[in-house]
Amino acid sequence: MDEDSISKKDIYDVIIIGGGPAGLTAGIYTTRARLSTILIEKLAIGGQVSITDRIENYPGFLGGVSGPELVHNIEEQAKSFGMRTLSGVVTRIDLSDEGNIKRVFVDDEPEPYRCLSIIIAAGNEQKRLGVPGEKEFTGKGVSYCATCDGAFFRDLDIAVVGGGDVALEEAVFLTRFARKIYIIHRRDRLRATKILQERVFSNNKIELILDSVVDEIFGQTAVDGVKVRNLKTGEGKRLEVKGVFVFIGWTPSLSFVGDIVKRSEDGYVMVDREMRTSREGIFACGDCCKKNLRQIVTACGDGATAAYSAQHYAERIKGEEYV
Ligand code: NAP
Repeated sequence: MDEDSISKKDIYDVIIIGGGPAGLTAGIYTTRARLSTILIEKLAIGGQVSITDRIENYPGFLGGVSGPELVHNIEEQAKSFGMRTLSGVVTRIDLSDEGNIKRVFVDDEPEPYRCLSIIIAAGNEQKRLGVPGEKEFTGKGVSYCATCDGAFFRDLDIAVVGGGDVALEEAVFLTRFARKIYIIHRRDRLRATKILQERVFSNNKIELILDSVVDEIFGQTAVDGVKVRNLKTGEGKRLEVKGVFVFIGWTPSLSFVGDIVKRSEDGYVMVDREMRTSREGIFACGDCCKKNLRQIVTACGDGATAAYSAQHYAERIKGEEYV
């Protein structure tokens, strides 16, 4: 559907903010409920999954499925039921007037999009290390995406920072290209799922550097290495690597939300079991919510629940609720 046909004059039943698996699944459900729905995404549709090489634990795909293929299919599925997408950065939500109508501002446009209900599915942003050299060498050896940049490091030595699922999965993926990979992790054991740990332990291209942090990324015009410090002994050393992949977790990307809904101390949206936020008519789903398990399958489940709640809310406002 052409973006130009998304009018600011209409009042949409639902605006979904974020086009990862949670938002897209919400779109499948709201459009099948015949709610007028637009989904706004600031980057590429698919979010984090679209840069994930292989997903092994999404049910129904024996042997796994590629991330881009999975999200492409979910997007097409939602569009086939009538979901429309808009590319832009949501900057603000305004609840101040027009009764139940909520206003969503995009980019620097003065005129907002209007709707009855909002589903926040904005996902997370990758955390930065915050050490000298990281910013300077981003795109010159420092990367946050193995699928995008792995092939630049053919037969070179590289470092992966982090001990979670993403760090280990991507380290194994990077062994297709790199000669040697150091995984640098700040604790004496890894956080990642055991099956991923087994793959790392049995891969002779990977060397673990535990109890250690990166103090600096150095180089001339591009990365030449990292300074690593052992937290137990205080001993420092330099590793000569041409690439540094940083996978140290995520923080919610919710600057547009401010304090209009209740958030946890670490910034996630607080939701109940029906994915309702503290504000009537605003729902949230996926990785931006406070919860323990952040997986594609849980994001999709959240998306379906948020859509169901939004449906009942919008139908109640319109006097159409089936009770
Ligand atoms: P994560 O599970 O939060 O792990 C982040 C890792 O980075 C942790 O080991 C953490 O150390 C380390 N870390 C955090 N801040 C650091 C810092 N400032 N300096 C050095 N190290 C730091 O994040 P993730 O690996 O990105 O995974 C995110 C979520 O996606 C998880 O819920 C994960 O299960 C899910 N996921 C699942 C799959 C899958 O199941 N196939 C694939 C990808 C992602 P500590 O351990 O000391 O905290």
